[in-house]
Amino acid sequence: MFNLISLPYAPEALAPVISAETLRFHHGKHLQGYVNNLNALLPGSPFEGLELEEIVRKAVGTAPAVFNNAGQILNHNLYFTQFRAPSADAAPQAALSAQIEGQFGSFEAFQTEFVAKGAGLFGSGWVWLSAAGDGTLVITQEAGAGNPVTKGLRPLLTFDVWEHAYYLDYQNRRPDHLKALWSVVDWAEIARRYGA
Ligand code: MN
Repeated sequence: MFNLISLPYAPEALAPVISAETLRFHHGKHLQGYVNNLNALLPGSPFEGLELEEIVRKAVGTAPAVFNNAGQILNHNLYFTQFRAPSADAAPQAALSAQIEGQFGSFEAFQTEFVAKGAGLFGSGWVWLSAAGDGTLVITQEAGAGNPVTKGLRPLLTFDVWEHAYYLDYQNRRPDHLKALWSVVDWAEIARRYGA
């Protein structure tokens, strides 16, 4: 049995970047729906009792309904716990900052590439910043419920480009939503995931 995670901030804390109304639907309806679906699929299946990441790795390509619901729970758990109230000085620190600048040239160049890959993703999916085993950073696009753990990568940061993540606040303006998200990223949490 999996439970809906609690948000580590008040529903209105991320406004106007993500409104309380969007959070209520996205967390309370969409994510709750994936949790309910997975809990209904698990009993008596080979996935019962496994950790969420293990379910995602095992179900990819073999059990689509389990993969889609478990993947969406894993993705949203990472997504919702990477934000905090808007701040003008949101930027990575220390080792993660040095790695980003070393690989992408600058933090701004990294942001531009990340937003371009999110904006350019056709249909529903996720854009990810992940770390390879040696600490190298990778930006990838994943369709549907995809998560880079299925490619042996460690997910650090993700922007949800499913329309349910932004349509109430931004309608069709996905790039505007993605650019606005930078001001609510909790880089201390991203650094913790990176191990820096
Ligand atoms: Mn979503």
